[in-house]
Amino acid sequence: MTATTVASALVFASQASSAQSLPRIPDSTLDAYPTYNGDDLELKVDDKGTHFTLWSPGAEAVRLHLYTDGHNGKPYATVDMTPDKAHGIWRTSQKEQLWGKFYTFQVKIAGHWLDETPGVWAKAVGVNGQRAAIIDFSKTNPEGWENDKYVVTPHQTDAIVYEMHHRDFSAHRNSGIVNKGKFIALLEDGSVAPCGELTGIAHLKELGVTHIHILPSYDYNTVDETQLADRQYNWGYDPLNYNVPEGSYSTNPADPACRIIEMKEMVQALHNAGIGVVMDVVYNHTSFNDNSNFSLTAPGYYYRHRPDGSYSDASGCNNETASERQQMRDFIVNSVKYWAEEYHIDGFRFDLMAIHDVETMNQVSKAVRAINPYAVIYGEGWTAGDSPLPVELRALKENVSKIDGIAVFSDDIRDAVKGHYSRADDRGFASGKPGQEETVKIGIVASTAHPQVDYSLGSNSKFAYSPSPLSIMNYVSCHDDLCLTDKLRKSMPEANDSVRMRVARLAQTIVFTSQGTPFMFAGEEVFRDKKGIHNTYCSPDSVNAIDWDLKAANRQQFDYYRNLIALRKAHPAFRMTTTEEVARNIVFDKIKEPCLVAYSIKNNANGDQWKEIKVVFNGNNSDRTVNVPKGEWKLIAFDGKIDPEGLGTIKGGKTIVPSYSALILAR
Ligand code: CA
Repeated sequence: MTATTVASALVFASQASSAQSLPRIPDSTLDAYPTYNGDDLELKVDDKGTHFTLWSPGAEAVRLHLYTDGHNGKPYATVDMTPDKAHGIWRTSQKEQLWGKFYTFQVKIAGHWLDETPGVWAKAVGVNGQRAAIIDFSKTNPEGWENDKYVVTPHQTDAIVYEMHHRDFSAHRNSGIVNKGKFIALLEDGSVAPCGELTGIAHLKELGVTHIHILPSYDYNTVDETQLADRQYNWGYDPLNYNVPEGSYSTNPADPACRIIEMKEMVQALHNAGIGVVMDVVYNHTSFNDNSNFSLTAPGYYYRHRPDGSYSDASGCNNETASERQQMRDFIVNSVKYWAEEYHIDGFRFDLMAIHDVETMNQVSKAVRAINPYAVIYGEGWTAGDSPLPVELRALKENVSKIDGIAVFSDDIRDAVKGHYSRADDRGFASGKPGQEETVKIGIVASTAHPQVDYSLGSNSKFAYSPSPLSIMNYVSCHDDLCLTDKLRKSMPEANDSVRMRVARLAQTIVFTSQGTPFMFAGEEVFRDKKGIHNTYCSPDSVNAIDWDLKAANRQQFDYYRNLIALRKAHPAFRMTTTEEVARNIVFDKIKEPCLVAYSIKNNANGDQWKEIKVVFNGNNSDRTVNVPKGEWKLIAFDGKIDPEGLGTIKGGKTIVPSYSALILAR
């Protein structure tokens, strides 16, 4: 198992105080449960009334509670449900269409009534997600929703992904956005910071990214939705209801339809701006153990266990789910299908994906791509701890060749370029640490087999694990660990921010010119920081919110990012789709100097208008000279400046590459 970033290894102290002890059911019994994959699971409303169906094969009895309120008061009715043992389900129906009402299920097992639960398939809930709501989804669609379309990037490598948290992006007092921290913040086109720069969705359009990746936006546990004035913050890696949007991102969490309508409005606004929406999904663990909705509906079934019956913990969050069990696998597949269809979500990022098995991920890819062939899907190809799931079955990055149509994050390029993710003072290639040159080359070819790349010299993986560039996400930072600015401040104490900004530009130029799909953390384009804090999962807005006045202060940095993105979008040579093309068209210079890598992309690669592109990265704190074939070249990037239309021309021959910068030439 790779020892890599513990993305979500957050230990939540908020386990329910009323945690009850569940009976331990042997795995062999759980494995033998009948399964049920009907589209009427839990709730269906039709002309004949309202129908409830709970999957709970181990239950001795199940009852349904009906409420008029989503949060307060006692049930107005309680109904015993009838078993259908062959399918492991329990059913009951009411003759009326119970629009506006709420419900919970309650399961009896080993002589004990468990706590009430909204079930695992609630699609609407009351405040804080304790009761499921019965609402008419046909009334939750914004005007024009029927014409709303997924964003089309013909190949995943054509996507440019921007990872953001709702609060980070809009919460700062200077964001110029009214609905701070809300889904509908992204409806406010033309918002402006006091410095005069565009923010919000207008900023995204100006930058040119193709997709935003939103941190968990399903209903999570930590933020108390009844106390939003407290401006609580959490990343959201503490899942509660997987198929409902998070209430705190809506303007009224007590109205079950509000969060649904507003999230759809956000997706529609982004689609209208030509920007797709990737959702961060966290099916690998739940916020609670015995008190999770999984445990309260079918105790034991949805989780993996150690031989002594305790919860195994590959997530670092006290439990891990069991995707190899049919009902859990179906749950994951049906849940992503639901988000793609009901909310028009363009793609998914799987947290700690290696907790899931390869077969489940293949089914996810197939199901989502049947709905949207242009879906952008990727995940973390690692776990945060050991798992009972055999290594060969895990959706690890080393197993990505077994997964069709889902990419993995390259920790190879990440750590090689900026330095080790958790050792704050460790530097990388871009900040002058020698010995990472071969791993940078591994990043450039997207971990595919290339005749000039020696994988035995790689810092992380020692073999070409990727079957094609489509299987790799390139990045140097994300919400986890130090953001790029903080990493450079901690690892380059002798430098000033102006030098660190050069290093950041070099680092991102490596990411955005490499084969594979580029991914960036929100605010890096304005050199945002997070006050040097590694894990900001519950830090306040004062740490996490992007200060938009930085955009004016660091406008040159923003312009560099914008031009870098424009360069990539204009030139398919950076976006090849097969290992064969990369091996044929990319030729590395034979250089033995530390922190210096140079290569050419030849043959009008991937239909590019440029016959040849020369790319040189100098991570040294002083100039270097490289040999460029003689002849006229267009100068695209030089000395920390970049322009896809060209900065001028040069004649080749001996060419200087200034410190901490990229040289890009084209002809
Ligand atoms: Ca919530």
